[in-house]
Amino acid sequence: MHELLSAASADAYVDALRGTVDRVATRFRTTTQPFSGASREHLQVLVDAVDLDGPGCGTPAALREVDELFAQHAVWFHDPAYTAHLNCPVALPAVAAEAVLAAVNPSVDTYDQSTVGTLMERRLVAWTAGRVGFVAGGGVFTSGGTQSNLQALLVAREHALATRPGAVLADLVVLASASSHFSVQRSARLLGLAHDAVRLVPVDERGRMRPDALAIALRHVERDGRHPMAVVATAGTTDRGCVDPLAAVADVCDAADVWLHVDAAYGCGLLVSRTRRHLLDGVERARSVTVDFHKAFFQPVSSSALLVRHAADLRLVAHHHDYLNPAGEDEPNQVDVSLQTTRRFDALKLWATLRALGPDRLGEMVDATIDLTAAVHDVVDADPDLRLLSPTDLSTVLFRYQPSGLDDARADALVGRVRRVLFDSGRALVARTTLDGRPCLKLTLLNPATTVDDVRGVLDLVRQTAAALLEGEELLRQDEAVAR
Ligand SMILES: *Cc1c(COP(=O)(O)O)cnc(C)c1O
Repeated sequence: MHELLSAASADAYVDALRGTVDRVATRFRTTTQPFSGASREHLQVLVDAVDLDGPGCGTPAALREVDELFAQHAVWFHDPAYTAHLNCPVALPAVAAEAVLAAVNPSVDTYDQSTVGTLMERRLVAWTAGRVGFVAGGGVFTSGGTQSNLQALLVAREHALATRPGAVLADLVVLASASSHFSVQRSARLLGLAHDAVRLVPVDERGRMRPDALAIALRHVERDGRHPMAVVATAGTTDRGCVDPLAAVADVCDAADVWLHVDAAYGCGLLVSRTRRHLLDGVERARSVTVDFHKAFFQPVSSSALLVRHAADLRLVAHHHDYLNPAGEDEPNQVDVSLQTTRRFDALKLWATLRALGPDRLGEMVDATIDLTAAVHDVVDADPDLRLLSPTDLSTVLFRYQPSGLDDARADALVGRVRRVLFDSGRALVARTTLDGRPCLKLTLLNPATTVDDVRGVLDLVRQTAAALLEGEELLRQDEAVAR
């Protein structure tokens, strides 16, 4: 059975991986833009042309196909012109560790399936909890911030139902802000809360939750005969990259005895920053914290964790099964504290990265992205054609192409079209979002190797594209005038 990885196929394994690594390395050496620019129609034809019911073509041919079909048209987050979403370039030791994971294929649900892996995951959870400031903290790796937020709110729900006399599901209220991640709303639905369970606390001019408004919102919850289940603060909002005032929010939560969850999916890189850790001051007063290593620690997807201040909190929803993790058994079974059963040992990648680079170096890399972003803000601010729209604590740039004389409606209409034209060309990937009701362009800069000049190149493309679109509109208008 040479199809399966075993002692008998170890040589074939070496060949398969060597060939694969060589092809991927060639892609890295030769790729000059973040996306090939192939049209969706063309990609659909390529995908449909593959006969999945045909006879096997053998491992080398199948892997060549993977390279030509997938890698050739993949989106490359390491390319400096990739500035769209919260995707980071990945750390080398993590990529190598991922290969170990794929081959060994452990599952960290029970100790007897992962042994030392379980202990390594628990050690990393304790390390991260220590960085947060949780003295007796616990936690578990998850598939992403979405799952971390869901589990946090699940635990908060159980806690509220257990500790608030008379509270029932339909009464529970979650206080978040308009800048909170959408997974908060979705979690509330999944958790069976009322349709109006999530109330949005007003924010300041940078989109940060206002502690005074939170205090008022909590009083309103009480006035309405409802029960506060949790407050969700965000350390690094997805669009603006701003950190809610965590200590002041914690003060309000403590006064009302409400569960504080801090969503630090984006801002968790500050945990290793030697210059900006203070932005997270107060996070240690949360009951639960979401961290996304695949956003801020240069980890391949997936790598995320939920941390709790009291390790026992995660056991509020533990289940025991005779075949897997019988109650009373003295083995560290992570399935007890996870929403998943079979689960990847994603912690290995972070382990390898931390050991290879050390936390301080990781922190320098995080700082480099924030420094880069500050410099880009200056560039945009000084550009007469571009308008910088909002400051950031982290690494996003919200802006619009709007030279003087271009009215708001036309500037707004350009946003989506500029993004689309750039995407279709594959030369630069930028994101778009809405700020204060108006569309805008967004850069997310998570690559410490990117230079200000690299980003200037992206901004030049934005400017050229927008100008060309406007010129096209003008020609169209003239044509129409002539036709009339
Ligand atoms: C990205 C993000 C999430 C969701 O994390 P995933 O890993 O994509 O599931 C949650 N919260 C915030 C603030 C985010 O930026």
